[in-house]
Amino acid sequence: MSRISVMGVGFVGLVTGACFADKGHQVACIDVDREKVDVINRGQSPIFERGLDELLQRNIGKGLRATLDARQAIVDSDMTFIAVGTPFDGQHIDLTYIKECARVIGEALREKQGYHVVVVKSTVVPGTTDRVVRPILEQASGKKAGVDFGLGMNPEFLTEGEAVSDFMDPDRIVSGGIDERSQSALEAVYEGFPGLRLRTNNSTAELIKYASNALLANLISFSNEFANLATALGDIDAAEVMRGLHSSRYLTTVLPNGEQIVPPITSFLMGGCGFGGSCLPKDVSALAAQGRQLGLPMKILSGVLDVNLHQHEQVFRLLGKHFSSLEGRRIVVLGLAFRPDTNDMRESPAIPIVKRLVAEGARVTGYDPVAGHEAQKIFGDTLPLASNLEAALEGAEALVIVTRWAEFQRVPELLKKSGERPLVVDGRRLLAKDSVARYEGIGLG
Ligand code: NAD
Repeated sequence: MSRISVMGVGFVGLVTGACFADKGHQVACIDVDREKVDVINRGQSPIFERGLDELLQRNIGKGLRATLDARQAIVDSDMTFIAVGTPFDGQHIDLTYIKECARVIGEALREKQGYHVVVVKSTVVPGTTDRVVRPILEQASGKKAGVDFGLGMNPEFLTEGEAVSDFMDPDRIVSGGIDERSQSALEAVYEGFPGLRLRTNNSTAELIKYASNALLANLISFSNEFANLATALGDIDAAEVMRGLHSSRYLTTVLPNGEQIVPPITSFLMGGCGFGGSCLPKDVSALAAQGRQLGLPMKILSGVLDVNLHQHEQVFRLLGKHFSSLEGRRIVVLGLAFRPDTNDMRESPAIPIVKRLVAEGARVTGYDPVAGHEAQKIFGDTLPLASNLEAALEGAEALVIVTRWAEFQRVPELLKKSGERPLVVDGRRLLAKDSVARYEGIGLG
């Protein structure tokens, strides 16, 4: 059992803290947001994440607590994870929160007796842990990394919506560290977790995370460029092209009994209305910016971002085939979160889509199974929300599917029942093209 403190109770920090506590560690989750700390200490999750409420209820007040008192929590622990946000400021990665954490930890370490390990879990560009975090820690503590305290980098690969199961059942655990002692301490807290183990230096650990996210973003923009080409060529369905691609033996394995093992990566090889979320857009932007700073313009990544920036315009091209103007049209946006099973709306493609629909004078309604509250923070009164799917569909002239929520598979059945025939613009190719009377899908030439 280790004594762990985690700075930041966002998606990553809270899941990390709750899962470690469930494995028997003593965990203090630190944040500067009093409201979040209070909610967590009542055993509730401030974010929508499957299984997280149950984990909190099981562990809060036992091995898990949330606190505003960073100094005490750090002094009372043996290892501190930094899991605060690392936004992109338009030019570079913004390390303000990381630097502040390093300062606070350093000051606490000045008072602490004994060895402590500091681990960066936030996604940070290569070099940050060694060249930004380390000097701040050393200066604020008056101690030496590698002698008085350890320093590691442990990137997080969880996907929102699957965060608890991803954390509990990881594919890999990367233990970056300045020395063997830091790496071993990090591996020790993951004892009992499945997954491959990789030991690296800190910069390598940092770049593994970016390489992983950049690949996924690449695959999405690659598929979207093909979808747009299929559309321009006409008479080609990009979804069929992608299914043909998925059948390559480099992707799909056919067992001797004929069973096909389709790898999950193929879910990123499918045209749609673009990627969003709190990671892919900002991480690809931050890495491309770092490349530029080093005199290495990362041309592929710039292309990935450029395709993504414009991809939601396909929705308007499809609407434009049926409506000469959107003025006064009753249009329903189905799905507001950036992906299903989460209420996170950061960088969701729904944001530019709703904003443009409103700007073009459409009467827009939104519906999302869980992201309504987050949507209200962004759109306020400009986006009325339907309380359920049935209510959302009533009287719609067009439906725009933006998020792959499983619930939206009921749309054909509900429309059949009501007899209504709105245009369906499928931004995720979720529905079969012949399942509704009037269908348009991205990549359907
Ligand atoms: P988040 O924005 O949801 O949460 C960050 C939290 O840090 C907030 O609660 C904020 O109040 C708190 N915070 C800010 N300054 C603080 C300080 N000085 N002391 C204590 N707490 C402080 O962020 P997130 O989505 O959990 O992401 C955190 C990091 O993990 C980012 O670098 C992100 O790129 C990375 N990451 C995120 C995901 C994901 O799916 N969200 C997945 C993998 C990696």
